Amino acid sequence: RQPLVSARNIKKHFKVKQGTLKAVDGVSFDIYPGETFGLVGESGCGKSTTGRTILRLVKPSGGELFFDGVDIFKLSEAELRKKRREFQFIFQDPYASLNPRMTVEAIVEEPMIINGLYKDDKERKARVIELLQLVGLSAEHASRFPHEFSGGQRQRVGIARALAVNPKFIVCDEPISALDVSIQAQVINILIELQKKMELTYLFIAHDLSMVRYISDRVGVMYLGNMMEVAASDELYSHPLHPYTKALMSAIPIANPEIQRNKKRIVLQGEVPSPIDPKDECPFVERCPMAEGKCRESKPALREIQPKHFVACHLV
Ligand code: SF4
Ligand code: MG
Repeated sequence: RQPLVSARNIKKHFKVKQGTLKAVDGVSFDIYPGETFGLVGESGCGKSTTGRTILRLVKPSGGELFFDGVDIFKLSEAELRKKRREFQFIFQDPYASLNPRMTVEAIVEEPMIINGLYKDDKERKARVIELLQLVGLSAEHASRFPHEFSGGQRQRVGIARALAVNPKFIVCDEPISALDVSIQAQVINILIELQKKMELTYLFIAHDLSMVRYISDRVGVMYLGNMMEVAASDELYSHPLHPYTKALMSAIPIANPEIQRNKKRIVLQGEVPSPIDPKDECPFVERCPMAEGKCRESKPALREIQPKHFVACHLV
């Protein structure tokens, strides 16, 4: 099976006064058609920047991003514009991403107009209603404005807008973390239903590890701009191999108190180091309970340690 998305050595660096801030420093992963690839890691680890970089919402500093076999990073602006409707982005804050002066109908039909889809007015308006219904809203919502909606409804509008151009791939960046806990599951279930109906492929970025496990087929773990481990969701959560993933997983509260008692919480020492001019060493070395001399000699590459289970660690 061919991946729909293939990221190879993706980099996003920023020049800052003190040097070069390496927000994303050589990240590789594949996403297969119809699957959800979860991306986790503490805030500042580069997961959002990775999502933005692969869609070229920010300018990449290096690497290759194959989408359906085409290297998106090599496309001219004009070529990119044509390709763009195939990949969309759902933002964390549905309020900030919706124009407050536009009706819901205008918001959802705008990308169709920009992309020259559904040129017939009637057909386009009908499609807007169809999309609103797909995300659990109704025709009456079309003439309203974003401020008349709850956070959950606004995120539904954001999803309808992303779907308006019939994309194949959607990057969902913390799509539910700004919402009330009571409606988070509803929005997640809408995303899952839509994926089945419309054969969508997702990159799902979040810091809520339980939610990521629930929605993802495979998961990647990032730390300080690097990919530390990639595996099938159940495998990663039940048998993490990288010392950082083990620590992350040990911090997930488990509903069953019996299991909780047997689970040893690994508390990491120290702070996440600065991503400015990192040395050629394991990015996790300062905080790793297993660190040895050779961890400082070079940055470990992401290697397939077991079938379909990738780990970047010198000792695993
Ligand atoms: Fe820890 Fe060394 Fe592995 Fe890095 S390479 S995660 S420091 S054991
Ligand atoms: Mg983020």
